[in-house]
Amino acid sequence: MTSYPKNLQLHIDGEWIDIGNRNAIAVVNPATGEAISSLPKANNDDLNRALHAAQRAWPVWRETTVDQRGDILRKGANLMRERADMIGHLMTLEQGKPLAQGVGEVIGAAKQFDIMAEEAKRCYGRVLVRPTGENSFVKYQPVGPVAAFSPWNFPLFTPARKLAPALAAGCPIILKPAEETPASAIEMIRCLVDAGLPSGVLQIVFGDPAHISEHLIASDIIRKVSFTGSVPVGKHLMRLAADGLKRTTMELGGHAPVLVFDDCDLETTLDALVAGKFRNAGQVCVAPTRFYVQQGIYDRFVKGFAERTKAVNVGNGMAPEVKMGPLANHRRPDTMERMISNATSAGAKLNIGGERLAGNGQENGFFYQPTVISDVPLQAEIMNEEPFGPVAAIRPFATLDDAIEQANRLPLGLAAYAYTSALKTANILGDAIEAGMVGINTQTVSPGDAPFGGVKHSGHGLEDGPDGLMAYMVTKAVHHG
Ligand code: NAD
Repeated sequence: MTSYPKNLQLHIDGEWIDIGNRNAIAVVNPATGEAISSLPKANNDDLNRALHAAQRAWPVWRETTVDQRGDILRKGANLMRERADMIGHLMTLEQGKPLAQGVGEVIGAAKQFDIMAEEAKRCYGRVLVRPTGENSFVKYQPVGPVAAFSPWNFPLFTPARKLAPALAAGCPIILKPAEETPASAIEMIRCLVDAGLPSGVLQIVFGDPAHISEHLIASDIIRKVSFTGSVPVGKHLMRLAADGLKRTTMELGGHAPVLVFDDCDLETTLDALVAGKFRNAGQVCVAPTRFYVQQGIYDRFVKGFAERTKAVNVGNGMAPEVKMGPLANHRRPDTMERMISNATSAGAKLNIGGERLAGNGQENGFFYQPTVISDVPLQAEIMNEEPFGPVAAIRPFATLDDAIEQANRLPLGLAAYAYTSALKTANILGDAIEAGMVGINTQTVSPGDAPFGGVKHSGHGLEDGPDGLMAYMVTKAVHHG
């Protein structure tokens, strides 16, 4: 059994750095509410050191061949797979998700490095050959040092989809993961360092998020900012980036509509949606959240959803039988409580759940019951704000046009889902829904090799696959007369 390290470290300029005289942040196990470790807060000297190391590393790293970079990334990915059980354990202790999901996430993160190691080889450029003998060359070059900020819900997969393309493209990167879930991210960095990354190419810092982002983004050394998190923080970071006209990738969450049509295979659809809804306790930016169900199957859908929800086994993610762990921090159960009471006072029915868990010491952790509410009025907060937790909000619709209108009514557009057996309906929805990813009869919208990103307030810029690599490149035209 892996135990959680008592003291965590920063990694700057090739050196692992202990707390020393720095301030510390407590890391809490969300299943028990206990502080399990101390995390050093980077100070201004640390951040400046990281910036200068990235600046020095840039010419070194971009001059390595794509094969050399690929070899290191693949070796790092292999180390992640070898250490997956240990890293998955750390993730469950700091984030709460069931162990199997944590280990699976490590494997998924490793795959990102394999994909990008290969993808970078195919960054060919173009030659425009003119009859006059004058040619133009279109080249892709690494954008330069990157500052990346990642959240606590996927402590490995989210940073991996920033680190892998940046490193494959030839960019040094300074990563600030969430302070709630540091150890698993640190171990991923260790795999890459052990695989032979030159010092300064990849650094990891923690501390006060607002201070770190302000300091790093203000530096002329940073050429690109990548963030995954909430809409307000994304807007704030874009404002900081605007001062230096820095490129940004913003993955700012969504509020995924799920359109369930009368002609779907109801039992299979329910099985899939209940599993998808409570994965990672609903703390997933592409989680199905607003369920619009056609009138002909509405009652059966609500009943079937509530029955299956009752069977979801909630508890400490270290226990193999557990399917849903605690929420990641104390803010989430508070938000669930507020949103559910707001919805029921507006007239929604509470079908199941709606309370924190108590007994067996669970009251000390951040547990919340898997919850289903139905007939939820459109004005309820939960139909307008992303719940980011284990609550399904359901309401009926009549026609295809109604369903599309409901799906598109919010300023968010990350993922959207539809369940139907009609090809024509599927084709119309694929065109009409305003979202970066549309899943028709599937929730697999993040396979790793296809573009991932949002529209409207869900952000801009793409991650994963060839588009994700290009996010770390600048395009240059060279003309020969
Ligand atoms: P938050 O936006 O405060 O924090 C999200 C991440 O951003 C955290 O890792 C945090 O450390 C970091 N952050 C916060 N302020 C920052 C700053 N000024 N500079 C740099 N980084 C900063 O959100 P939260 O309270 O942790 O969660 C609230 C909401 O955020 C959720 O309800 C959800 O909507 C959204 N969220 C989205 C994702 C996603 O995958 N898109 C992930 C986590 C949270």
